[in-house]
Amino acid sequence: MTDKYDVIVIGAGPAGYVAAIRCAQLGLKTACIEKWHDDKKNAVYGGTCLNVGCIPSKALLDSSHKYVEAQKDFKTHGISATGISMDVPAMIARKAKIVSQLTSGVKQLFMANKVEGIAGSGKLLAGKKVQVTKHDGSTVELSAENVILCAGSAPINIPPAPIDNDVIVDSTGALEFSSVPKRLGVIGAGVIGLELGSVWSRLGAEVTVLEAMDAFLPAVDGQLSKEALKILSKQGLDIKLGAKVTGSKVGKGKAKTVTVSYTNKDGDQEAVFDKLIVAVGRRPVSENLLGENTGVELDKRGFVVVDDSCATSVPGVYACGDLVRGPMLAHKGMEEGVMVAERIVGKKTQVNYDLVPFVIYTHPEIAWVGKTEEQLKAEGREYNVGTFPFSINGRAMAANESEGLVKIIADAKTDRVLGCHIIGPSAADMMQQMVIAMEFSASAEDIGLTMFSHPTLSEAVHEAALAVAGHAIHGVNKRKR
Ligand code: FAD
Ligand code: AMP
Repeated sequence: MTDKYDVIVIGAGPAGYVAAIRCAQLGLKTACIEKWHDDKKNAVYGGTCLNVGCIPSKALLDSSHKYVEAQKDFKTHGISATGISMDVPAMIARKAKIVSQLTSGVKQLFMANKVEGIAGSGKLLAGKKVQVTKHDGSTVELSAENVILCAGSAPINIPPAPIDNDVIVDSTGALEFSSVPKRLGVIGAGVIGLELGSVWSRLGAEVTVLEAMDAFLPAVDGQLSKEALKILSKQGLDIKLGAKVTGSKVGKGKAKTVTVSYTNKDGDQEAVFDKLIVAVGRRPVSENLLGENTGVELDKRGFVVVDDSCATSVPGVYACGDLVRGPMLAHKGMEEGVMVAERIVGKKTQVNYDLVPFVIYTHPEIAWVGKTEEQLKAEGREYNVGTFPFSINGRAMAANESEGLVKIIADAKTDRVLGCHIIGPSAADMMQQMVIAMEFSASAEDIGLTMFSHPTLSEAVHEAALAVAGHAIHGVNKRKR
């Protein structure tokens, strides 16, 4: 006899816990299996995002930003502060408290919505059966009408820099340093490398980022990635492009260091660090997830193959989040979780993959949605661009946050907004209004005709939209009308 559910979700990260909650809200008998556990072997929900990803990294980014403000920015406002120091263990403990509040929040949401949380490791078997291996080693078999695979992702390890969780760490280890390393190496100038590199650089580490590619943030609109490189370098990040790491050697003795070998256009190079963060990307966690003959297909990189609605080739089996194609972002997984739950009950919900917002939480933040200028050029589309710098936005000046710009790109014929790119203070939150506007197929003129509160940072969005047609009021228009 096996317990039978309407839905079993494997994995309680943002994709899985959201899918489970939505399924339960829709009246489906739902269980969610999670292998992450605490010292007492109780399940911990929230996945990478809440435990070792989005939230803890933002907690450290916010703490380290406050430290920089106190050290460098206060005096601009006439505030003198002396004897400022950083208590790293206190910062880490604050982060841990936030994580614990949020992960127990998911537990409460499960209880409130009647999702049955199951501690253990889930494996899909043929015929929509699921085997759970509990933390004591015992196994049970469950079955369901529908199974949603949400096993997420894990950091990629590279042979030239094996993680020892002492000197060489991945993103998880980089959230737990007990003191500020003097010399910190970061392999990979992607989102995670730049965010975690920024945290420790702000606290005083000499940070060198080694990036194999010649281009900096190639997915970001070229005008913004250039600006970002300038600003982050000015902040002290030594970003070496075209630097491919080929090996590393951890020294012996008490104060261990690591010597990293890399090649660049000048040949073989070496650099010595006290800590090294490997941030070269993430891989789907699909090993041990599928039993024999489930019929669920993996691609050659280990992603579960799904269609646009996250259905696998097996009816009733779905997969969402980092386990499937597309950007590895918590909100993308959450929307997929909702879509699958609603499709199970017959709704036609569809994620709009053209409008996934992206954010890099450096300071200033970098946020974008839609197409970059480079993409539109490659597609041969005609477009108009409007930009507005924060250096002449009153609210940004008042806050002493005047680096960066807003860029809006609109179709040359229809004026429909095709992309919005912001590097600046609170770019992530500010850009969200453009995601909504673009969901409703707004034109740049629609945004220009909308009234914006004064003074706000968002007025830079308004002015960039007006600049698309060449009639920004508070800036000099590049495009003349
Ligand atoms: P995960 O969050 O990885 O969750 C999967 C869960 O499944 C885990 O809890 C795992 O234990 C469990 N699991 C796996 N296999 C099994 C099994 N067989 N049985 C039971 N349970 C299983 N994204 C953003 O959008 N914004 C950010 O600011 C951001 N910052 C990040 C910072 C860092 C340092 C990192 C590492 C990631 C960041 N991300 C960010 C990415 C984000 O964390 C992921 O995209 C998101 O967590 C993916 O959600 P998921 O549910 O697909 O998978
Ligand atoms: P992301 O995939 O956005 O997390 O970024 C990871 C970055 O790591 C990419 O820009 C890769 O080019 C970079 N990378 C991967 N392997 C190496 C390596 N051996 N040396 C330096 N950079 C690397």
